[in-house]
Amino acid sequence: MIDEARRLAPRFAARAARHDRDGSFPADDFADLRRAGLFGLMVPARLGGAGAGFADYAAVAYELARGNGATALIFNMHASVTGALAGVTDDLADALGLPPEALRARDDHLAAAALGSWYAVAMSERGAGSRLSQLSTTYTRAGGGFRITGAKTFCSGAGHADAYLIAARSAADPAQVSQFLVPAGDGLRVEPTWDALGMRATGSHDLHVDVTVPEGALLGGVEGLALVVAQLAPHWMVASYAAVYVGVARAAVDAAVTHVTERKLGHLPAVRARIGRADAAVAAAHLAVMEAARRVDEAPGDAETNRWVWRAKLIAGTTAADVAASMLEAAGTSAMRRGHPLERLYRDARAGSLQPATSDVCADWLGVDAIGGDPDTDGSAPRW
Ligand SMILES: Cc1cc2nc3c(=O)[nH]c(=O)nc-3n(C[C@H](O)[C@H](O)[C@H](O)COP(=O)(O)OP(=O)(O)OC[C@H]3O[C@@H](n4cnc5c(N)ncnc54)[C@H](O)[C@@H]3O)c2cc1C
Repeated sequence: MIDEARRLAPRFAARAARHDRDGSFPADDFADLRRAGLFGLMVPARLGGAGAGFADYAAVAYELARGNGATALIFNMHASVTGALAGVTDDLADALGLPPEALRARDDHLAAAALGSWYAVAMSERGAGSRLSQLSTTYTRAGGGFRITGAKTFCSGAGHADAYLIAARSAADPAQVSQFLVPAGDGLRVEPTWDALGMRATGSHDLHVDVTVPEGALLGGVEGLALVVAQLAPHWMVASYAAVYVGVARAAVDAAVTHVTERKLGHLPAVRARIGRADAAVAAAHLAVMEAARRVDEAPGDAETNRWVWRAKLIAGTTAADVAASMLEAAGTSAMRRGHPLERLYRDARAGSLQPATSDVCADWLGVDAIGGDPDTDGSAPRW
């Protein structure tokens, strides 16, 4: 799968400028991902997938992002849904008291992904960001299932996914935040609002929700699991973007090397030094991401694993923005023209620190931890 991602990246890169300019969903990239079987990356082999771990995912995301960060970011949402579902092992399900129907539904969603379905994430809301505890989308019990109503924003791939993971709070008991996998179609309306500085091809539009779903759409089969899952698997909520932004940063270094070689600027010491510093910074960020990912696979949930998860997101986000800015400066004004790869990468890299957990939030989490507090509860605002 990593080789497949490496093979596809140049194809994505060749299409990236057009999708960025038009703000259009990279449908052709997604057709390639489907054909390569990458929608089944996180799906266990017994359900027809590749059975990848988190480190495998990080390696794939890095390669895809070297081609087009926006494509890799949308793919990250699908990997998060399937990875978190696959992470609910039968033992964990027992510990959480999940009903057998929920495990059958988990397997159905995963098997469908291995056959080519892909899932988007509709968690964030205007005003609440991605903080689960602050969401205003609600659900009520209706007939044999649930009626979900509300409005989401920043939904990458909106209008193109086969189903959407929608987070909502119970109208009957607002402390319960649950997640549903809702098929595309009636009851979901996309409002095209995404015309952003960077990651333009993610098409992260608003999604209006007024839909009734059967009982089986409730992930885990038990209400109120969303916050539990966020704390049990912070790597999907925090660190999965990190690999994407390190890939974007590496693409910026590659684009700068191509540019300075073509323009015969490589003899200039200041240009060479910028490229040298950027190369080292990206390599270090990549190591931090892979270290976090290795620990997630080996010791998920450990205090030190979680520290690495938050470190990785912080380092990746800030490195991407810093490196892309420096590479643009090394390349000069001609690289600022619309359509130049560095101009797009500079804007795409800018989003890394802003995606949750933002760099500031990561730094606060790590700082609270370093001075002996509980970083999940002792922040100035709810983490989730
Ligand atoms: C390219 C892109 C694609 C995205 N795709 C998706 C998607 O597919 N699905 C989805 O659901 N969302 C998606 N998002 C949205 C993302 O997950 C966040 O929810 C969103 O960026 C938060 O937006 P916000 O403007 O409310 O900022 P916030 O995260 O609320 O941040 C605003 C400010 O408050 C600070 N802050 C926030 N929380 C805390 C805290 N606990 N403690 C201290 N300070 C804090 C931040 O550092 C920042 O300075 C995407 C975002 C981007 C940029």
